[in-house]
Amino acid sequence: MTEKRVAIVTGGTRGIGKAICFALEKKGFKVIAIARSEKSIADLDQIAQQNSLDIITCKLDVSDTAAVNAAFDKIAEEHGGIAVLVNNAGITRDNLMMAMTDEEFDEVIATNLKSCFTAMRAACRPMIRKRWGRIINIASVSGVVGNAGQANYAASKAGMVGMTKSVAREFAKRGVTANCIAPGFITTDMTDVLPDKIKEMAKGSIPMNRFGLPEEIAAAVVFLASDEASYITGQTLCVDGGMTMC
Ligand code: NDP
Repeated sequence: MTEKRVAIVTGGTRGIGKAICFALEKKGFKVIAIARSEKSIADLDQIAQQNSLDIITCKLDVSDTAAVNAAFDKIAEEHGGIAVLVNNAGITRDNLMMAMTDEEFDEVIATNLKSCFTAMRAACRPMIRKRWGRIINIASVSGVVGNAGQANYAASKAGMVGMTKSVAREFAKRGVTANCIAPGFITTDMTDVLPDKIKEMAKGSIPMNRFGLPEEIAAAVVFLASDEASYITGQTLCVDGGMTMC
């Protein structure tokens, strides 16, 4: 029997990340889902157990560099490598520029952007060793076209896009691809908290006139993680109901 490929999904216990975990598991990957809260980890563990899914949870704050290094080394050693890395963990701390605090800016950069760097650095050696790897970074349309009240978040997501292109160039000859997916508005805990008025306004800016589903992002991840996507690298795929047409 050939060994299963290992896929790490940060922020894999809720929303888009959870859908990505289920979709990759269905495609035959052994999935490691990373998150911080005991509750979301316990919930996913229960679903995985009840449905005999090959999903293992790992409690970790992705902004803790030392913890990421240690966890990724352990995963690579115990499971014989890391084939796919999905940098999906992300937060928002929205505020208008004039009112945005240093803490709001720094927290978003540490969780969304620095963690992406740390995780890619920790995962690239096992990928290069096997001459096969797929890095998929979940950015946002906010990083592509900007969004009022999200200077911190848009900077983190635009940073991901530039970093991904650089990494794609570094790894292009080594069988490792790196791409971004930029979701538009997707129905998750992150967008649930938006006031109804903002949700309606957002919907009006989407040609498809609806929010996307986490599964619609997961489908794009599955493709980019496949053997068939071997000639695609350094790209940003907007999955946004036509919002940006970028
Ligand atoms: P959710 O808030 O629903 O889920 C976020 C996930 O990330 C949770 O599993 C959370 O678990 C985890 N997480 C957050 N911070 C950390 C951390 N420091 N360390 C480890 N895990 C962490 O978000 P979405 O599913 O909506 O978003 C997923 C990604 O997609 C994010 O990067 C987001 O920016 C991006 N995105 C989302 C859009 C949307 O409309 N929903 C649009 C565009 C992009 P826990 O809290 O337990 O740590």
